[in-house]
Amino acid sequence: MDYEMTPFEKEMEENLLTMRDNLLAKISKSDNDFRNLVGSSGSGDSVDIASDDLASKKMEAIGRIDAGKLNSINQAIVRIRNGKYGVCALCGKKIPEERLRAIPYALLCMPCKRKQEH
Ligand SMILES: [Zn+2]
Repeated sequence: MDYEMTPFEKEMEENLLTMRDNLLAKISKSDNDFRNLVGSSGSGDSVDIASDDLASKKMEAIGRIDAGKLNSINQAIVRIRNGKYGVCALCGKKIPEERLRAIPYALLCMPCKRKQEH
């Protein structure tokens, strides 16, 4: 781990760590809200089934939005520490700093991102 980070990379790492903390806080908060919701909803034999159903829907929602973002953030942090930050994961071209400032966890350049979305 002798890689010397550039000032830009240090700045981006700080941003990413903050983003990750906020995201984890958000996930655990919505987890609590969710528990309260399940805890207060109805009574009787159907509760267990209903809460299982809700839980899987909830995990699905978190999975799609937050887990994907969390994963990108973690990957970006690893790339900074390996000295590979700011290089497109697909084509290997440099990602412009403006793009990284806007989306610090961007792993792809704009052209590759567009291709992936289509
Ligand atoms: Zn690319």
